[in-house]
Amino acid sequence: MFSKKVQDAMNDQIQRELESAHIYLSMAAYFDSENLPGFAHWMNVQFHEEQAHAFKFYNFVNDRGGQVVLQAIGQPPVKFQSPLAVFEKALAHEEKITGHINDLYALATEENDFASQSLLQWFIDEQVEEEKNAGDIVDTLKKVGDNYQALLMIDRELSQRQLPAEAGNDAAAS
Ligand code: MG
Repeated sequence: MFSKKVQDAMNDQIQRELESAHIYLSMAAYFDSENLPGFAHWMNVQFHEEQAHAFKFYNFVNDRGGQVVLQAIGQPPVKFQSPLAVFEKALAHEEKITGHINDLYALATEENDFASQSLLQWFIDEQVEEEKNAGDIVDTLKKVGDNYQALLMIDRELSQRQLPAEAGNDAAAS
């Protein structure tokens, strides 16, 4: 049974995933303005991934006979100090999202909602990946410091990031 409590919490999470997409697109715009196309590309992939996350909840709420209720999303930050500052913000953001996913799982458990727990298990695993991805780049950027040459090498590496097929399909199908 899909409780109103779980439905409302998932609608809140749809808002957070769309807001995440918005934040990452703003970060992509910052990197484009700094002539770092690889960093911008990485953030653009992240933008699409977050939209796919929102669609996963959107489809699930619909499949369970619930009502999707979209909510307003806030204005994302526009100005950033440095690539490192951007990725530190991204990491902190993902840690916050992990907390919300954990709260949702706890609620689904409390409500004896096993289908929601199954969906949320995917998100729990995904958040481990999200924190690792951002965290690794934070570490690398700390080592690089002010070395512009090294920053351009990282930019080239980040330009290789691919959108997971699943994320692309989800976005396209919905
Ligand atoms: Mg997400």
